[in-house]
Amino acid sequence: MPEWNLYEKLSYGVIKLTEGCVYKCSYCASRVLYDGFKALSIDEAVSQMEYFYKRNIRDVVFYDDALLYNADKILIPFLEKVNEKFEGFFRFHTPNALHARFLKEGEYKEKLAKKNW
Ligand code: SF4
Repeated sequence: MPEWNLYEKLSYGVIKLTEGCVYKCSYCASRVLYDGFKALSIDEAVSQMEYFYKRNIRDVVFYDDALLYNADKILIPFLEKVNEKFEGFFRFHTPNALHARFLKEGEYKEKLAKKNW
């Protein structure tokens, strides 16, 4: 977990559920920075949220490059666990781009809408 305690004042939290991207867009540096794809365990990710909860930080930003990739195994279970544990406390934001095709082709749109997205 990042050393958030170094910030005396923290108005929002940042989390990365995943590192890297499985795609190879020619204009993107993602693969140069990290040539792989891995995800935090749900427990690790929820423990980061626990820290934000204790500091009363409601707004949390995802910095993932491919947040919706494999979402049924990563993002959706994470959001379910967070909502179960913190009961809608958090508001999530995605300043990094999302893969629109996953929103169009999958059912994530509805699932995410139910989870303070
Ligand atoms: S992060 Fe986005 S732009 Fe970069 S390779 Fe992945 S899909 Fe392409």
